[in-house]
Amino acid sequence: MRFKLKSSVLFLGCLFGSIEAKTISRLPDHRDKCVALTFDDGPSLKYTPKILAILKKYHVPATFFVLGSCAKRAPHLLKAIVEEGHVLANHAYSHRSLPKLSSSAQQEELNLTNALLTPYQEKISFFRPPYGATNASIQGLATTLGMDTVLWSIDTLDWKKPSPARMQKRVLSELKPGAIILMHDIHENTVLALEGMIQAILRAGYRIVPLL
Ligand SMILES: [Zn+2]
Repeated sequence: MRFKLKSSVLFLGCLFGSIEAKTISRLPDHRDKCVALTFDDGPSLKYTPKILAILKKYHVPATFFVLGSCAKRAPHLLKAIVEEGHVLANHAYSHRSLPKLSSSAQQEELNLTNALLTPYQEKISFFRPPYGATNASIQGLATTLGMDTVLWSIDTLDWKKPSPARMQKRVLSELKPGAIILMHDIHENTVLALEGMIQAILRAGYRIVPLL
């Protein structure tokens, strides 16, 4: 991820009438020792099943921000994600940076992806823009489609392929109540680090909870 927005909660009611566009990078309640796991850019035929197996072993929930272009090729994984108690969320269709697209192309990115997900999960409540790149009109679009924009507070930087030990150390050093942890279910290193990371989070006295 090249940059991230640190806004906690952004209300744009004035721009969109009575509609509130909500953007979060931490869980709404910061008091409890709870964190959420999120996986972007899948589903991956190779790695998502391995991630699901680890989550199942520890009975912990996660949110999968899937790309429409990948979702199309893996309907069985969309089904498995929902059946195993996790949440499907929208990460746009093609992983292009949305602020660079026309508003009709932005709409298409979000709508196509939701159309692929809703056969498996009735309501898609969360949207994460590729690269965290968003603006008021994209947030407004997500809101009109019934989705909150969800960023993150801990970036594992798993796409840089760090060792499992390094990834776990990074997460533990940044762990705070309400943290939203960003990972990608398309890298082997993420699979290799996940089990130890879950164990370390639980050992630190945190619960792993759904986004909402
Ligand atoms: Zn992404």
